[in-house]
Amino acid sequence: RAKSTGRNSYCLFDEQMNVNTHERLGIEQDLRQALVRSEFVLHFQPIVDLTANKLVGAEALLRWHHPERGLLGPDLFIGVAEQSGLITEIGEWVLNEACHEAARWQRQGARGLAVSVNLSTVQLHRGDLEAIIAQALVASALPPALLELELTESMLLEKSDSFIQRLRSLKELGVKLSIDDFGTGYSNLSYLQRFQVDKLKIDKSFVTNLSSNEQNRAIVTAIIQMAHSLKLKTTAEGIEHQVVKSILKSLGCHFGQGYLFAKPMPADDFLGLAQQARVERER
Ligand code: C2E
Ligand code: MG
Ligand code: MG
Ligand code: MG
Repeated sequence: RAKSTGRNSYCLFDEQMNVNTHERLGIEQDLRQALVRSEFVLHFQPIVDLTANKLVGAEALLRWHHPERGLLGPDLFIGVAEQSGLITEIGEWVLNEACHEAARWQRQGARGLAVSVNLSTVQLHRGDLEAIIAQALVASALPPALLELELTESMLLEKSDSFIQRLRSLKELGVKLSIDDFGTGYSNLSYLQRFQVDKLKIDKSFVTNLSSNEQNRAIVTAIIQMAHSLKLKTTAEGIEHQVVKSILKSLGCHFGQGYLFAKPMPADDFLGLAQQARVERER
């Protein structure tokens, strides 16, 4: 059931809620047209190397320019997109768009910056994901090592041979795999090596209040130590304060992302920032 909070109620649907069929069809309809009418756009949020204080890439985050409701964030429509199966097409668009944009960074003076793309579990269970990604890489001419796929812990619960083979073939393409929202999901860690994961993204719920919350500091410390011994890189999400950045750096966390550095921004703004960052580095 959608919460009745007036005209914003449309935005409160997600997969946890039992949205009635009529309402869901409405959103689905809008989502279908959104693809055709090119209403989706990617914003990019900078990711920095905490030690070198250097920009290393960005996460691509989906936004929807809804004709009546303005700019909508993914939490407001990804659930319906997944339930309806539309996420497959939307996700393919995201992959292509992100690869093209990152290829543009390489050509326009921001060489070496990587792009991270969030995958939905629905996409991961379709047989043609490797082909879609391979195609996006070829069409954009983006070096595969500069594409990072973000999965969540729950996606790695599946242990079927075909699924394991799929992740292997993704790795064989040369792309990187990271675990998003790490620490919030399943805690059997043996899959990290079985699936050749490259990086853990520590969930922002542990990071943002790290300096005042002892428990979260203990959790983050443990995650970073474990990542070091498994030779995995770490990115902390949700860094909003300088003191949190300093703590993470001293704990040995490699990368950071959060409002302290920048909020997600339109593609052209990110390119401008990346070009500026290079100029400053060379000065
Ligand atoms: P995520 O992948 O964990 O992305 C990080 C989210 O944290 C983003 O929210 C970002 O704007 C937000 N964030 C970053 N730094 C800070 C900070 O310092 N403080 C706070 N409070 N928040 C911060 P956003 O863009 O609303 O995305 C929400 C989620 O939607 C993403 O979480 C991801 O799971 C999903 N998503 C986004 N784009 C896509 C997509 O293209 N495909 C799929 N399947 N899911 C997507
Ligand atoms: Mg993510
Ligand atoms: Mg996350
Ligand atoms: Mg998330």
